Amino acid sequence: MKATRQLLLGGIWQIGEGKIFAKHDPVSRDHLWEGHAASPGQVGAAVVAAREAFPGWARTPFAERQALLERFREVLEHHREDLAAAIAHETGKPLWESRTEVGSMIGKVALSIRAYQERTGQRERDLGDARAVLRHRPHGVMAVFGPYNFPGHLPNGHMVPALLAGNCVVFKPSEQTPLTADLILQCWMEAGLPAGVINMVQGAANVGQALAADPGIDGLLFTGSARVGGLLHQQFAGQFDKILALELGGNNPLVVKDVPDQDAAVLTILQSAFLSGGQRCTCARRLIVPEGPVGDHLLDALSDAISRLHVAGPFSEPAPFYGGLVSVAVADGLLEVQAALEELGGTVLARMERLKEGTSLLSPGLIDVTGLALPDEEHFGPLLKVQRYRDWDEAIRLANDTRYGLAAGLIGGERTDWDDFLLRIRAGIVNWNRQTTGASGDAPFGGVGQSGNHRPSAFYAADYCAYPVASMESEDL
Ligand code: NAD
Repeated sequence: MKATRQLLLGGIWQIGEGKIFAKHDPVSRDHLWEGHAASPGQVGAAVVAAREAFPGWARTPFAERQALLERFREVLEHHREDLAAAIAHETGKPLWESRTEVGSMIGKVALSIRAYQERTGQRERDLGDARAVLRHRPHGVMAVFGPYNFPGHLPNGHMVPALLAGNCVVFKPSEQTPLTADLILQCWMEAGLPAGVINMVQGAANVGQALAADPGIDGLLFTGSARVGGLLHQQFAGQFDKILALELGGNNPLVVKDVPDQDAAVLTILQSAFLSGGQRCTCARRLIVPEGPVGDHLLDALSDAISRLHVAGPFSEPAPFYGGLVSVAVADGLLEVQAALEELGGTVLARMERLKEGTSLLSPGLIDVTGLALPDEEHFGPLLKVQRYRDWDEAIRLANDTRYGLAAGLIGGERTDWDDFLLRIRAGIVNWNRQTTGASGDAPFGGVGQSGNHRPSAFYAADYCAYPVASMESEDL
């Protein structure tokens, strides 16, 4: 597949009229993509194209919408290696992980079809003189915003259910991943996407702002940072007639109660904190360990394992545990965070360092910040902060000491500790003796607090992509 370097408006590839921007591989520095962002007029045209396509798409029988999705799934299968390579190049993610991401996109199609049918299947009840019928209707035009860390799976997770329900979409991918977005839209076109059903506008924050402000959208399905989610929430204030689904970040705690198996505990921590180089919304950001020898031994073993973790370019052999960060600038920012935490009194247990000049490859970092008053920020990279606790109540208090509430984990403890943890912890995804990252495909995925207002999963998507209509009807007057 070849990049088109264009926007998709009403079924026609067009050249952007906005600023030119480019994407380079953050590890090899190879040039990957270059194109023009959409102008404000083109953002408006994308919304108009979606609005025009909506009545026809909403009336298209479900079986035909389903058939389009099934063709899309076949096309994804056909291009899975191209897509995985694009994701690996653009995000710095290892090829093995990028392949898994494409696999999730493919799996989402069947899951969404099943979920939509189960959740929205027409229901009838005989009232004697009439029938009560529950149907579902699409909202209209959905704007879908993607973050950079899962440029395929996450926007796909909104677009597939939105389309299935009969909505049309304007897709605004992350400016860090224009190539992946370009290829995904080519897959839709190859599957036979009717004109205007999905439109794509490329570009940065200003393109996102223009799309969010367009009065022609009926909803905005956003995955990204709490900072941008907060801005969008303000922008939507009072517009309760619109859907605003926000799936945001977290400052996720991983609490260690005790360590019955040190190797297993270390592996769980590595997977929680450093998978994808810490570029997952569910990555553990804070490791909360007991004071004393249990915590000391664990931190020694963890520092040792960190020093041996294989970090390398996405296509390296043997395959790395994680690869590069999404850009050199993001890696620079992480190094600045580490320096700032040290300045505030943090003790570096394993130093995060750039592995190769001019690239985004960073080694994993571990820093003890016990007792420091720190801003409650999500540091989106391979840097794990350690906080030590004196007793269980303090462990829970530290874990909950965040405005976010996305993922949390517990290592060790008895079932009674787990039950207590579940009752007291404020987070949407909570795991015991398992990594904090990842979630069951069927389960509602999302958080509380400033981690968002929304729980997407194939099953719940049906709730935000379509609204229920209750009718009572009789053929006889
Ligand atoms: P981001 O918020 O910087 O960008 C997300 C999207 O919003 C991009 O398309 C971007 O161009 C656009 N955007 C940026 N500024 C905007 C503005 N002012 N108005 C409108 N649109 C704007 O997020 P990111 O850095 O791409 O992704 C990483 C973040 O996403 C992390 O915080 C991570 O935790 C979060 N995330 C959350 C989930 C989840 O399911 N909860 C999943 C993955 C990532």
